[in-house]
Amino acid sequence: MFTSRRLFGTNGIRGIANSELTCEKAAKIGGAIGTYFKEGSLIVGYDARTSGPMLTDAVTSGLVAAGCDVLSAGMAPTPALQYAVKRHKVDGAVIVTASHNPPEYNGIKVVWNDGIELSREQEIEIENIFFDEKTCYAEWNKIGSVCSLPSIIDDYVDAIKQHADIAKIAAKHYHVAVDAANSVGSLVAPRLLRELGCKVTTINANIDGTFPGRLPEPRPENLAELSSIVRAVKADFGVAFDGDADRSVFADETGEIHWGDKTFALVEKDFLQTHKREKIVTPVSSSTLIKDVADAFQGELVWTKVGSVTVSQTMKKLKAKLGGEENGGIFYGAHQAVRDGAMATALILSIMAKSGKKLSTLLGELPRYYIEKGKVPCPESLKEKALKKLAEEVEDLNPNTIDGIKLWFTDKSAILIRPSGTEPIFRLYAEAKTSEKAARLVNEYTSKLKKILNRLES
Ligand code: MG
Repeated sequence: MFTSRRLFGTNGIRGIANSELTCEKAAKIGGAIGTYFKEGSLIVGYDARTSGPMLTDAVTSGLVAAGCDVLSAGMAPTPALQYAVKRHKVDGAVIVTASHNPPEYNGIKVVWNDGIELSREQEIEIENIFFDEKTCYAEWNKIGSVCSLPSIIDDYVDAIKQHADIAKIAAKHYHVAVDAANSVGSLVAPRLLRELGCKVTTINANIDGTFPGRLPEPRPENLAELSSIVRAVKADFGVAFDGDADRSVFADETGEIHWGDKTFALVEKDFLQTHKREKIVTPVSSSTLIKDVADAFQGELVWTKVGSVTVSQTMKKLKAKLGGEENGGIFYGAHQAVRDGAMATALILSIMAKSGKKLSTLLGELPRYYIEKGKVPCPESLKEKALKKLAEEVEDLNPNTIDGIKLWFTDKSAILIRPSGTEPIFRLYAEAKTSEKAARLVNEYTSKLKKILNRLES
């Protein structure tokens, strides 16, 4: 029935509902997770997808069958559920969400008692239980209970407000446009913003698991409507969330959508002004902008592999207080060391209110980079060898090999060459002070990589 011994991807288990991820499979996964947690107490919640309640009931049945008690939190953003784990001091959480994936997908994220998703080692233990059929079902009198857990959104909104400059924000009477992707972002962001004294205009704020407004991934090409609304209502800025509201992408007052690198750099700059020499954690896929800000404001930058769980785990290990990703994930450790879209929104508001500047002005003050991307086809079997050969060729350039190969050059340009985890290709991301230079870098390393592959194939 199962061809691979792997369930978890970069962010949990994902699949198309009712074909790759059925109720039967979800119940079996629930049993394996419940066995791993050994009769613990787990919070369970889900995002707005049509398959959410069905798969949540299936996972819950597996968890209680394995003897775990379930605190059912209902529909909620992933970061609200992660915060509830710490607030209620439970053993973990199971979140039924496919995050930014299209509507037909759903998934299962498993969270440990610190609110952070499981490490790869922990996931392997669950996979072993699942594939080796080692699930321990409880005796009839040890079957777990299911209770509802009310008010997690209230607690979560209150927690975020503790980290916001409430008086300064309220005094500005900001007008914010929110694109909630027809999902759980709508349960928190409009309310949080109103409680912070903002006027709120919403789009896609009705819960609808078919995602009729736009795809759940907050990419610039999906956010044209947010841009128009910001301009039409003359909002101070716009914010868009992904399907489970852990990522947020911002539009300035002119409607221009900015990638997460830039808003993260803004938060980083503000943070380092009051937290000198603190560690800033970010994946190697992030822009040199993050390093420029760290250098300028005496922060210590820590590069990680790509993936939000790695950023969280690294923050925890190093006791770092701030992390961020180029896709709009901001990890504010004083609140929780996981990405949190509503927390990020409150931080941006605080920065605007303190400075009194427009968002476009604040972002315009950051160093500017131009980005070019490329891809090179490569069979799965040659990826590792090709990467090793390329590392040898560029040895003099002091490559960072934490995840693929990243090279930084003295003229502030940089390139990341990284094998795709899901497709038979290498991806190339270059950035530079001019678009011509970034394009030249992509061309140069595309031909280097092609030459290596030709040699390996012959
Ligand atoms: Mg997400």
